[in-house]
Amino acid sequence: MREKPIPVEPLQSPTMAVQATVLYHLAPRGASTGDVESLFSHLLSVCHAHHLSPRQVVDRVLPVVERRIDTTIYTPRYQIGWGWDKHAGLDLVGMHRSAERWVRVMEAATGLKGLRCATLLPLQEFTTGNLITDEERVCTDCLDVDMIDGGLPYGRLLWRMRPVNCCPIHRKRLIVPECGRSPRDSKPEYERIRFSGVCSKCCSIGHRCRRNQAEAATDAEVWRAEQCRQVLAASSAIETAGPEAMRAAMREYCAPRGTACSLAHRSGMHKSVLSEWMRTPGMRMSLDQLLDICAADGLELAELMQGRVEHPAGAGGLAPARERRQAKRVDHDAVQQALIGALAEGLSLTEVARAQRVDIKTLTRHRDLYVQVRAAAAARRAQEEEARHLAAIDKVEGMARELAKRGRRLTPRNAQGLGVGGIMPSSAEAAVFSLMRFGLGDRSARLSASATRLGHRFILRINESIVRLRAEIEGDQLQLPLSPD
Ligand SMILES: [Zn+2]
Ligand SMILES: [Zn+2]
Repeated sequence: MREKPIPVEPLQSPTMAVQATVLYHLAPRGASTGDVESLFSHLLSVCHAHHLSPRQVVDRVLPVVERRIDTTIYTPRYQIGWGWDKHAGLDLVGMHRSAERWVRVMEAATGLKGLRCATLLPLQEFTTGNLITDEERVCTDCLDVDMIDGGLPYGRLLWRMRPVNCCPIHRKRLIVPECGRSPRDSKPEYERIRFSGVCSKCCSIGHRCRRNQAEAATDAEVWRAEQCRQVLAASSAIETAGPEAMRAAMREYCAPRGTACSLAHRSGMHKSVLSEWMRTPGMRMSLDQLLDICAADGLELAELMQGRVEHPAGAGGLAPARERRQAKRVDHDAVQQALIGALAEGLSLTEVARAQRVDIKTLTRHRDLYVQVRAAAAARRAQEEEARHLAAIDKVEGMARELAKRGRRLTPRNAQGLGVGGIMPSSAEAAVFSLMRFGLGDRSARLSASATRLGHRFILRINESIVRLRAEIEGDQLQLPLSPD
């Protein structure tokens, strides 16, 4: 990409009616429709229009802009643009504080208004959760449409929404395009461009180089994607209406006796959750949950979010997409029998819990058995540990004896030459090894960190082994006293 001087200083001319901005007044494409460009894609488009790389704009233009606008709301710890392209600009398009900050700075830099609609900020009072995908998915058919008459493709905000997995226009699943060209054909790093809808490896516009193809979407998926598309188209009206209008409309809809119960059941949620949400101002629901409610009765989500219940004829009756959480009853007699069995068979609490498909906390209901099983498991573990330690002492003692026969000292290199396998650092054997060298009078031996943490019993066993060895070996090595402390 050709480089130009960076336009940080705006033109200040007293004759101009409109104050010049640092960056062009280039609006996001598809503004106030369901196909609105995401703020991330918009940033890349703006950079492209200026023949600047996004890195130059993000590092050197936007921080200057931010310092000029009022930042008394809060003092950010990081300069704007920190990690800007992480997860394909997740921070720019979400509905959190970082997106708010990006909108403010981008509006100041371009002089545009209403960039909120290129993010999910208008929905922040309505829904919860992680609504933005970590990667840019595309509908390649839409990109092809963008390129008719030589236009450039752009990334839709809709494609970044997690509940959407297909293009409602072309009824195809969204894909993360994989470049199908060989690495030989990919562009050198400095020639690549960052632009939504363009392959980042070979710069193929509209991802024509892709090797993965989109599958056909199901009717239910298309319905959900279309609902989200309508929500984006109406996002500024939805934000103006506010969440309480939606709650009131829902209360009215559920006023006839039994409606709330039936609706909750069909949309895969507990009735108590639905009624609490209708009662409690400020309580939010996930977008997937709202979609399931609308799917059950064929309501229009975008209308509902503006406080109107629209019930198109012949619609509705779609099954919820989320799986209902099931709370199983615990068979306490079976759990008790399993705990008794565990005592006899030497099983641990974890194994009992896994076999009975309950959590450990449920086992504590059978307190006496729980304590017995736990104590038995601890005793078993201690025994196993003891056996492991004794085996380690045996192994090292055998090495020392073998080396003494050959008239060699107990050192790691000599031990390796024995061909009985190495000693893993930080294993029990390594600890025994260093203590044994020390105990046999090797002043160059350093005690490993694990050796200093060994228990009293263990040290006594090692001492016994050293005494045995010294009785057998008539060497000139002098034993240093081993202290258990
Ligand atoms: Zn499409
Ligand atoms: Zn490519």
